[in-house]
Amino acid sequence: MDLHELWKTALADIELGVSRPSFITWFKDTHIASYNGGKIVVSVPNGFAKEWLQNKYNKSIVKAVRNLTPDVREIEYMVGEPPAQTGTHERLTKPPQTKTPNMFPQYLDQLDLKDVVVNPTTNLNPKYTFQNFIVGSFNEFAHAAAQSVVKKPGGIYNPLFIYGGVGLGKTHLIQAIGNALVAEQPSAKVRYVSAEKYMIEIVDALRTQEIQQLKEKYRNFDLLIVDDIQFIGKTEKMQEEFFHTFNELYEKNKQIVISSDRPPAAIPTLEARLRSRFEGGMMADIGEPDFETRLTILKKKQEEKQVVINDDVLTVIAQTIKNNIRELEGVLNKIVLMSKMTNTPITTEETKKILNQLVYAPKKFATPKKVIKTIADFYEISEKDLTNNSRKKEMVRPRQITMYVLRDDLKCSFPFIGERLGKKDHTTAIHAYKKIKNELQINQDLEEELKLIRERIFAL
Ligand code: ADP
Ligand code: MG
Repeated sequence: MDLHELWKTALADIELGVSRPSFITWFKDTHIASYNGGKIVVSVPNGFAKEWLQNKYNKSIVKAVRNLTPDVREIEYMVGEPPAQTGTHERLTKPPQTKTPNMFPQYLDQLDLKDVVVNPTTNLNPKYTFQNFIVGSFNEFAHAAAQSVVKKPGGIYNPLFIYGGVGLGKTHLIQAIGNALVAEQPSAKVRYVSAEKYMIEIVDALRTQEIQQLKEKYRNFDLLIVDDIQFIGKTEKMQEEFFHTFNELYEKNKQIVISSDRPPAAIPTLEARLRSRFEGGMMADIGEPDFETRLTILKKKQEEKQVVINDDVLTVIAQTIKNNIRELEGVLNKIVLMSKMTNTPITTEETKKILNQLVYAPKKFATPKKVIKTIADFYEISEKDLTNNSRKKEMVRPRQITMYVLRDDLKCSFPFIGERLGKKDHTTAIHAYKKIKNELQINQDLEEELKLIRERIFAL
């Protein structure tokens, strides 16, 4: 089996357990450089990544890899080694084979595992198209808005602001806009960038005094697509840069497309002037796919991968994974890989086992500490501010939400919760719990917010 494939699958697994920014920061551009005598050497782009992977993530990496191939003994990290050529490394041993072989491998050999090349000019990934974007009632409005933008860029849907939970197709959809526009108007200047990357570009340009060039570059696009705007830095300078770029593009009737995991009003670091710009265009949210749609998605993905999987297995997956298309695909990949390694089709029983591990196991590992850290990260405040008894207004609500989650999900006692969050009396904890519980009945934004928080805490 292929090292590239092994790493890709292990990463898909690891990705479910870490925050998006950490994943991008530490796991991007990593690959397996060699595999010899039970030792895997992972190549990483820089010393920071090496340190972090070694110290913080080694355990989960080892676990994810061993899940796939049990005979790996250790993993080492090293800076900057080009990818291993397929065939020069020792073959990974398959786990003991217990089932009868089947007709699977002939399909699986055709699995397309080649890396797709990102277009260097537009930064678009050609694999994200409208053709392979599945539409259901959960995303049809966002999809229709996206198509209108392609028909008439800079028209009434400007900016187009797409928001929705993790793994529900925001990146796919906004890149599809870019790819479709380039296909229709090859001369159109299109640029896709993640907010994080854009911020890094700004920091670099400020450092090298090339901010003017950067400004000019960004102000010349016909379509600018900014992904994951919720990661926009707190720094005033950055928001200012983006604000001016935004205005200039907007005034020239150039199209801007933005994605976010939540509506503008719920991004705590976003300046009011940017927020009102975003809200001034078209906002479209992507909800969660229903069962039928999830099954359709799995079937279509299976077709794309040119494999055949039992419909019952797909049904079980679609029934279990409810709110994340990336996870649907992740489980599918895992099943494809497992049957490839064991040379047997996966049964519904085995699928249920895999799903059980994924869906239920992590809940046990959510500790109060993790809840506090996740919520502090989510609101971009420090854990200390969240847990001491400061009366700062902006801490009150995150603290109440923390109390609510500790009670509702972790079943912590009220005295414990009060003590842990600012040495408060248990009545404070009870009050907070009730307050949030009541508010959830009427406040849909809060419900959304809590969903995002829980997703992070109990990330699959
Ligand atoms: P997000 O940006 O919302 O976190 P992505 O766009 O990265 O989610 O989607 C996660 C994965 O699911 C990608 O591989 C994407 O191609 C796939 N996906 C999401 N939505 C759809 C859809 N409607 N049709 C087909 N594939 C989808
Ligand atoms: Mg995305």
